[in-house]
Amino acid sequence: MPRHGPPEDIIPPQIRLLTSPSGPIPQLLPAIGGDCEGVVQTGRMRTELACEPGDRDRPNEDYASVALPASGQGGSLVVLDGVTPPAGDDGCLHSVPWFTARLGGALGEMCVSLRDLTLPEILSRAIARTAGTHAGTCDLSHPRTPQATVVLARWDPAHVEYLVLSDSALLVESASGEVTALLDDRLALLPGTALTSHTVIDATFRNKEGGFFTAAADPAVAERAVTGRLDRDGVRTLTALTDGAMRWTERFGEGDWRELVALVRKEGGQALVDRVRALELAGSEGTSARRGKTHDDATVVYVEL
Ligand SMILES: [Zn+2]
Repeated sequence: MPRHGPPEDIIPPQIRLLTSPSGPIPQLLPAIGGDCEGVVQTGRMRTELACEPGDRDRPNEDYASVALPASGQGGSLVVLDGVTPPAGDDGCLHSVPWFTARLGGALGEMCVSLRDLTLPEILSRAIARTAGTHAGTCDLSHPRTPQATVVLARWDPAHVEYLVLSDSALLVESASGEVTALLDDRLALLPGTALTSHTVIDATFRNKEGGFFTAAADPAVAERAVTGRLDRDGVRTLTALTDGAMRWTERFGEGDWRELVALVRKEGGQALVDRVRALELAGSEGTSARRGKTHDDATVVYVEL
């Protein structure tokens, strides 16, 4: 059967070489395959992703992705929690999901394609690219210009790199089963008595020295992120969470981080979100209640390396 395709005269000659069944061995192939010399595959891994809006009548402002590049040499995850602005002008024509889709998409693509760049360099470039898409129409200097918390992790056969900015979390389980929460605790450490109103927070603390930082329109914020690199041999699992899912531990005190990871491993990320929703409906906020919505967007990304 003849296969349908574009006429030969619009196919560039170098592509014709690659696709011609009887043509000469193309000179391009050794260069394309060169990156795979001595490749060490990272083998089987389990990945899970749950991302649920807090209110089904409002768009989800969280963003999550996992990439497992075709090279087989590792992968990456991206989790963003878009910051819901208070009512009123934020200088931007666009929505928070518009922003998180662009920033998250840029981060995911760059983590895969620009492996020679560090995660802060990638965050910086992704913020700049996203800002460039609406700098001509919007006031990006507004303190409430669309912004998000960020969790990034990228692994290869030798290492796991991470980046955390603002109040989402990356839980790292060691080979021996210990769980460490990698957190940017600047916001949590601010005294509650100082956070009296959105106006005060924006004027004094939001993306201000001595306050807390989010990924908005300034690429330089990437230098503020909590970052590091671990030996891959010492890491069994990674669990990235937005604060809507962190509530299971932080607000409701249902278990510590190790128990949260054990729950996700056994029952999956959606089970964690379902339990948070049930606790929210029951109104059992325990003794460590923090300010926030009744239901928040909740995201869990779990990777077993
Ligand atoms: Zn805009």
